[in-house]
Amino acid sequence: MAAKLLEGAPIAEQIKEKLRAELSELKSQGVVPSLAAVMVGSNPGAVFYAKMQEKACSEIGIEYELKTLEESTGQAELEEVIAGLNADEKVNGIILQMPVPKQIDGRVMQAKIDPRKDVDGVNPANLGSIVLGNPRLAPCTAMSVMMMVKASGIDVYGKEAVVIGSSEIVGKPAALLLMDKWATMDETGNTDKLAGATVTVCHIGTSEKGDLSSHTRRADLLVTAVGVKPGLISADMLKPGAVVIDVATIRKKDPETGKSRTLGDVEPEGAKEIASAITPVPGGVGTVTTALLLKNTVEATKWQLGK
Ligand code: NAD
Repeated sequence: MAAKLLEGAPIAEQIKEKLRAELSELKSQGVVPSLAAVMVGSNPGAVFYAKMQEKACSEIGIEYELKTLEESTGQAELEEVIAGLNADEKVNGIILQMPVPKQIDGRVMQAKIDPRKDVDGVNPANLGSIVLGNPRLAPCTAMSVMMMVKASGIDVYGKEAVVIGSSEIVGKPAALLLMDKWATMDETGNTDKLAGATVTVCHIGTSEKGDLSSHTRRADLLVTAVGVKPGLISADMLKPGAVVIDVATIRKKDPETGKSRTLGDVEPEGAKEIASAITPVPGGVGTVTTALLLKNTVEATKWQLGK
């Protein structure tokens, strides 16, 4: 039987619908949330994300400002720009667009963002509160994974969840949320339920010196966030009936049409025949991630207002 397709658009729309109500409430108090993005140089990926952020913000009524700095900008100068935005009361959310040029340590600079304005959820204070199980601003992509898990209908409690990719912004926080209570929080703030999956995290070491497919084949839930090669995960690596969340976005030129396409880690056609549910790429996790960036901006604004 063909897998259920976990489309991101309806979930993103639900998130935005709630946000519109919150934004109009804030507006009635004279508050319009504002998001500032800092881009160093003009990496095509960073430019693409900035355009997407601007569009999403303008659609919902969040102010957006992009600060573009010279490719040659050094850490000290960038740190000053971030400090200025931290101090600016009109700015509620700050993003450092990645990737940054090689003279800059992106993680160190992200740590300079005020945790209450850190809408990417990457400041050590916010990442640390995921470990403690009560984050206020968590990385949008990891939260998007959890929303996809919820949409699939799988109860992960006691089930085998395998996460491929161990980055700070996706794999590690997703793995923690899959064990956590907070991640199951419903609209009323109820966190009675524990996600409670048995989580395995795979990474490059697993592929190079271990046996990746021995892990993926026992996954009731497979979350994959690698992004190096489309089709890294083939259908024969999946457990029949698994829920598959493909986070990766890999841009590839089609040799026939010459047009660029976005592909995921999973080989989709074969996987649809084996999995019970699967996220499309594009149109899955990424669509929800963008909506959650807006949600984090509103959450950051409320945090700064002491709400
Ligand atoms: P990253 O490069 O920081 O991490 C990649 C991870 O994959 C690492 O842990 C690495 O060890 C692991 N890895 C590399 N090769 C591997 C292999 N052959 N087998 C197993 N593991 C391997 O990347 P990231 O920032 O976490 O992003 C991962 C992917 O997710 C990228 O394609 C990125 O574009 C995408 N992404 C999507 C969204 C979204 O909203 N859809 C958001 C963030 C990132």
